Amino acid sequence: MAIATVNPATGELVESYEPYDESRCSTVLEAASRAQRDWAAQDLGMRADRLQGLAKELRARQDEYAALITLEMGKPISQALAEVEKCAACVDHYVECGEAYLRPTTVEMGVRFSGVRYLPLGVVLGVMPWNYPFWQALRFAIPTLLAGNGVVLKHASNVPGSALALEQLALAAGLPEGLFGTVLVEGGAVIPLIHDDRIAAVSLTGSESVGRRIGAEAGAALKPAVLELGGSDPFIVLADADMAAAAQAAATARTLNNGQSCIAAKRFLVDSSVYDDFIDATRAALAALKFGDPTDPETQLGPMARSDLRDELHGQVIDTVAGGARLVAGGTPPSGPGAFYPATLLIDAGPGMVGFDEELFGPAGVVARANGEDALIELANCSRYGLGSSIWSGDPQRALQLGERVCSGMVFVNDYVRSDPRIPFGGVKASGYGRELGHHGIHEFVNAQTVYAR
Ligand code: NAP
Repeated sequence: MAIATVNPATGELVESYEPYDESRCSTVLEAASRAQRDWAAQDLGMRADRLQGLAKELRARQDEYAALITLEMGKPISQALAEVEKCAACVDHYVECGEAYLRPTTVEMGVRFSGVRYLPLGVVLGVMPWNYPFWQALRFAIPTLLAGNGVVLKHASNVPGSALALEQLALAAGLPEGLFGTVLVEGGAVIPLIHDDRIAAVSLTGSESVGRRIGAEAGAALKPAVLELGGSDPFIVLADADMAAAAQAAATARTLNNGQSCIAAKRFLVDSSVYDDFIDATRAALAALKFGDPTDPETQLGPMARSDLRDELHGQVIDTVAGGARLVAGGTPPSGPGAFYPATLLIDAGPGMVGFDEELFGPAGVVARANGEDALIELANCSRYGLGSSIWSGDPQRALQLGERVCSGMVFVNDYVRSDPRIPFGGVKASGYGRELGHHGIHEFVNAQTVYAR
């Protein structure tokens, strides 16, 4: 794949970039490594003060950054604006809580001091996806930097403008030169960097297949890694759920970010007694979405990020129908330019069908039925993924208990799954390992150094 910005709403090439060669990548690593040594020597309070500049800069240039996100990957502009603000809020959170998160812990052993302190690891390589070009990169970088590490970002090849804008943002915010560097390289070309001595650890957000590759390489290099991978999140509707609320949330959760979110609800698992009601209400909610030009502030569903991804999704929809599911909404890409795909719903789905077994990374969801809670939970766990899950019930306490039986890194009751800087984010099974955000996120890239002094 070339490193280029192609507007997914029109298919037009906006700008292409020469990939960095080995020597240029080495210069970025060297600068990050040098800057990180000085950065680690500063106290946490000083680092927090410098990082606060990121929030100021993000808010000052929110319109510009949101327009860039929409241009590069097609997100509706209202959601791009929200993405930039969420990044600023993430800075605020870590500036406020970083000291508490990284405070040394004491273990009473009757000596002068015994306990644990949290030291940086070095420079962390971030391999990031295009779906939230600012959020994915910054939600990893902010806590990583605050802990005293440096960052080298290898962003997805279809969002090079965002990758370079993030590097400039760090400089404009007043971070030391080189501390946050970007390398413009294509997929596999990042592998040698994992083995470079100047890289201490790796964070990947991306697909399962790339997760297997990067996890193996990091393991061979004996470097810690966080893998945030794909998902096929269940959205479980119990017999006593508030149907209007559940259906509205189902439509939003499936189409937010043009359906391209790891934590989007992808499998709707509905109690047989309310199955038809759920389908009718969800179809109506999907039909009401405003679909089209992502630069229009009213638009709720824009194009997918690339036409090859749109074609791949369409193939999965066709295969799911061939496997026995019924199409009750969407399913036909509009003619004309751009990578548009309509909100699509497939019903009577189940294990063994492509749309149930694989991740649908676009605005298409499958609905399956089951009789009662036990059968619904069994269906939810019938997936190799385990990222998020959502349970809808008139008895939230009961739903919380049921959530313990769902194999997922996150469970939300009567709401759809979302990320928030205050709470950890991550999955189990083929959805990866490690956590981002919250207390857990900032502890992924630190050396928990045991200290014992008489
Ligand atoms: P992807 O194809 O796996 O790409 C992710 C990153 O890996 C990109 O920077 C990509 O670079 C790079 N890459 C591709 N091939 C590689 C290789 N052989 N070796 C090393 N790096 C390689 O994923 P995507 O299409 O960008 O994003 C969609 C996927 O990410 C979905 O599965 C989604 O669920 C997942 N995701 C997960 C989370 C989470 O937090 N769990 C969040 C968002 C997205 P190039 O662009 O240059 O190929």
